[in-house]
Amino acid sequence: MSHHVVVIGAGPGGLTAAALLAKSGVRVTVIERLPHLGGRTSTFSQKGFRFDHGPTFFHYPQVLEKLLRSVGYNLWRELDLIRLDAHYRLVFGGGGELITTSNLRTLQSAVAQMSPQDASRIPAFLLDNRKKLDCFRPFLESPFHSWRDTFRLNMLGLLPWLKPWRSLDSELSRYFSDPRIRLAFSFQSKYLGMSPFECPSLFTILSFLEYEYGVYHPRGGCGSVTATLGRIAKELGATIRLNEPVDEILFHGRKAVGVRTAHGAYNADAIVLNADFARAMTRLVPNQLRRRWRDHKLAKKSMSCSAFMMYLGLRGRYENISHHTIYIAKDYARNMRDIATTHTLSEDPSYYVQNACVTDPTLAPSGKSTFYVLVPVTHHTGSIDWESERPRYRELILNKLSEIGATDIRSRIEYERIITPADWDTGFELYKGAVFGLAHTWSQMLHLRPRNRFDDIERMYLVGGSTHPGSGLPVIFESARISSRLLLEDLGIPFPCTEVSADEPTYAGAA
Ligand SMILES: Cc1cc2nc3c(=O)[nH]c(=O)nc-3n(C[C@H](O)[C@H](O)[C@H](O)COP(=O)(O)OP(=O)(O)OC[C@H]3O[C@@H](n4cnc5c(N)ncnc54)[C@H](O)[C@@H]3O)c2cc1C
Repeated sequence: MSHHVVVIGAGPGGLTAAALLAKSGVRVTVIERLPHLGGRTSTFSQKGFRFDHGPTFFHYPQVLEKLLRSVGYNLWRELDLIRLDAHYRLVFGGGGELITTSNLRTLQSAVAQMSPQDASRIPAFLLDNRKKLDCFRPFLESPFHSWRDTFRLNMLGLLPWLKPWRSLDSELSRYFSDPRIRLAFSFQSKYLGMSPFECPSLFTILSFLEYEYGVYHPRGGCGSVTATLGRIAKELGATIRLNEPVDEILFHGRKAVGVRTAHGAYNADAIVLNADFARAMTRLVPNQLRRRWRDHKLAKKSMSCSAFMMYLGLRGRYENISHHTIYIAKDYARNMRDIATTHTLSEDPSYYVQNACVTDPTLAPSGKSTFYVLVPVTHHTGSIDWESERPRYRELILNKLSEIGATDIRSRIEYERIITPADWDTGFELYKGAVFGLAHTWSQMLHLRPRNRFDDIERMYLVGGSTHPGSGLPVIFESARISSRLLLEDLGIPFPCTEVSADEPTYAGAA
C-alpha cells in the first residue's frame, strides 16, 4: 500500500507539494477550508469582472518552469505568461516619475532624466547582484536544519555580499545618490511586507530579479497559476477536497498521524502544512507540543505588513495608466514608520494600482476594466478599528487615485469590494492579518525561520511564505520542492523527479 500524505491548504505551496508528491507515487489528499483553491493566489469574479485576491506580479518563472518540467509539464504551454515591456510606473509624491524596464538603455535614459549620475551606476548594480544571487542561490534551494547548514553552504562566498549591518536603502546608497532612484530599486521590499530602511541589504536581489528575468502577467491573473497547479496535481493523482477546514491535527506523542475535519478523520504517514504558519500553530498544534514556536514566542515575532485592498470594476478603461503603477508617499520614511512602528494609518500612504485590462482585456466585460488597489498598512494590532476606518480610508484612497491620473474614478465604479487587515485575519486565516507572514529579518531567516522539516513535530513538513526560503511565489515553489524532498527521504521514497541543472537553457529566454 502506498503512503498517504495529507496537505493542509491548497495555496501555491500546498498545490506544488501535492503535484511533486503525487508524481512520486505517494497518495495525496489536499484539504482546503475555502470553497476555491489558490489561497491568497486566487481570483474571484463578480459582475463579469475578475480580480486576483493577492499576487499580481509573477516573477522569475524559471523556478516554476523547472518544477513543472520535473513532473512532465511545460510551463509555457500550460500558462499564457505575458512579459511586460514596461514593468511599472513609479509616481513619486515628492515629484518625478519613472517607468522601469528590463531594457537597460531605456532604463538608463529614464533614470538619467531624474539623476544623470545614477544612470551610469545601473550596470554596476546589476553586475554585483548577478554575483550576489549566484552566491545566495544554494541558500534558497537548500533546507536549513540548524545553524551549521548556514556554514555548510559556502557562507564564506556569500559573506562579502551579506552585510547584515546594512539595510536595503543604505546598501543602495553605494550606487545611487538620488533617494527616488534608491526607492525605485528598493520598494520591492514591500513584496516581503517590509520597509527598505529595515529590510536586510541582501534583498537588493529582488529588484535585480525583475531586471534580469522580467515581470510577467499570467493571462487571467495570477490565480490561473494556482488553478493550473491544481489541475496538474489532480492529473498526477492527488485528490483535492474544498470547503473542508481541518479542525484538528491528530498526534501520537509528538508525531503527526492525521487530521480531523467535519467529514471525519484522515490517517496520514505525513502532513504537509500550507496554512499560514503562525495561525496554524495557534489553532491546530497544541501549545504544549511545541518547543520553539509556543504562543508567547509567536506573539513576539516580527510580522510583515497587512494591506487595505480595493477591487473596483469600472466603466471604460484608463488607457494611459500602466498595467502596474506604484505611488510612493512624499514622506516615505514616515509612511514606513506608520506601518511598522507606530501602527497608525498614514494620511499620505504609498499605494499600488493594477490596471490589468490594458494588457489583459479578458478580466472585464467589453468596454470595462478593473482596478486593483493595494495600500500597505500595519498588520492587525488592535490599534485601528477597521469597522469605522474603512469608509474614511476608502474616500481618502479614491481621492488619491487622481495622483496617478484616475481623476473621475467615482463616476466609473460599477462594482466594488474592500478587504481590510481584519478581513485578512478572519477571512483568510492570517495571523494578525499579516499578508506576507513572518517578516524577513535576520532573526527570522534561514535556520531561524520555521524549518521545512518541522522540528517541533515529527512527520510534519512546512510549505508556504512563512517557512524557508520565504514569501513570494518563486520561493514558495522552492519551499514545496525542499519540503517534498525531505518528506520522501523520511518515508524512504526516492525523489523521482528529473533534476534540471540551473544552467540548462530555459524556454523563458524566448519570451
Ligand atoms: C495582497 C497580496 C499581494 C501579494 N502580491 C504578491 C505578488 O505580486 N507576487 C508574489 O510573488 N507574491 C505576492 N504575495 C505573497 C504570496 O505569494 C501569496 O500570499 C501566496 O499566496 C502565499 O502562498 P502560501 O502557499 O504561503 O499560502 P496561501 O496562499 O495563503 O494558502 C494557504 C491555504 O491554506 C488554507 N488553510 C488555512 N487554514 C486551513 C485549515 N485549517 N484547513 C484547510 N485549509 C486551510 C487557506 O485557506 C489557503 O488556501 C501577495 C500576497 C498578498 C496577500
